Amino acid sequence: MAVALVAPACASARGDENASADPRAIERVARFECPAAARTAGYSRPRPNGRLRVVTTVAPITSIVAAVAGDAADVRGLIPEGTDSHTYEPEPSAARLLATADVVFVNGLKLEDPTRDLAAANVASDAQVVELGTLALPRAAYLYDVSFPRAGGKPNPHLWTNPPMAACYATIAASVLGRADPANASTYQANLAGFVAAVDDLDQRMVAATATVPDAQRTLLTYHDAYAYFAAHYGWTVIGAVQVCSFEDPSPKEVAALIRQIRREKVPAIFGSEVFPSPVLAEIGREADVRYIDTLRDDDLPGHPGDPAHSYLGLMRSDFVTMVDALGGDASALEAFAPTGIVPDAAEYPQ
Ligand SMILES: [Zn+2]
Repeated sequence: MAVALVAPACASARGDENASADPRAIERVARFECPAAARTAGYSRPRPNGRLRVVTTVAPITSIVAAVAGDAADVRGLIPEGTDSHTYEPEPSAARLLATADVVFVNGLKLEDPTRDLAAANVASDAQVVELGTLALPRAAYLYDVSFPRAGGKPNPHLWTNPPMAACYATIAASVLGRADPANASTYQANLAGFVAAVDDLDQRMVAATATVPDAQRTLLTYHDAYAYFAAHYGWTVIGAVQVCSFEDPSPKEVAALIRQIRREKVPAIFGSEVFPSPVLAEIGREADVRYIDTLRDDDLPGHPGDPAHSYLGLMRSDFVTMVDALGGDASALEAFAPTGIVPDAAEYPQ
């Protein structure tokens, strides 16, 4: 999650402009449609040999893939929840797990390159490594911002905070799994339909809830720059991200600029994470006299594996309720969200 990959991103704090330097990219995200190629992604295994073994990386992706796989395939996540996925280096033992995989799903957009590289070096010759984000989003719609500057070459990778993009991930997964395991292709498609219907429902509730948040208050200052694609989709503005960082904190000047901006724009609340406490954000909240809510998450699912809330949909519902409520909107439609038609999640989530 937090600690960024390049020095300037490490302690990024910002003010004044929108999260992305490129309004055309924001516009492209706002008009996102899952590409037609998502429905035909993947290829057949030369020798289908029984139950499909699937390996994934971060927990939201594990959950999305598990919602498609149901009980027809084995799904194992690799990156432990509560770990900084941006800097995660897989254990050497992960090579053995990857060597047994039929399909490896990663996010791509350079989020988990060490894991992707380890997978590419170790998977069997008839296995496939699939970059969901790279297949879902055209390069021209990648968002770069202060935490993920274009000069650093690593786009903001958090596509899953945008529900239509998560539905696209699932569409790709259903195609890849169905082509690798034709005997269960119709199961994967049926599971996909249930998941996409639930994502659409949540998305519509969030559109309705956004309308209840006063225009000027649809703003995010967060512990981590994970909501750029979310913001572009719902028409919110990311005014800053203050990363947890062991090396350096934002400069006093950057902090002062954020405090001024929060006061000027009358932002009612700023957001941190339970998993990555941010003393700097807490301090900014005190100085600017706004609420500091420390319960957002981006790749750490709520509850424990096996709980219904421990899921991609549970994660998004929790974040959306938290944001809408704290920023003065009515979150009741989101609170009432109770998806049906989702298959039980049997994936393994390392903790
Ligand atoms: Zn992240």
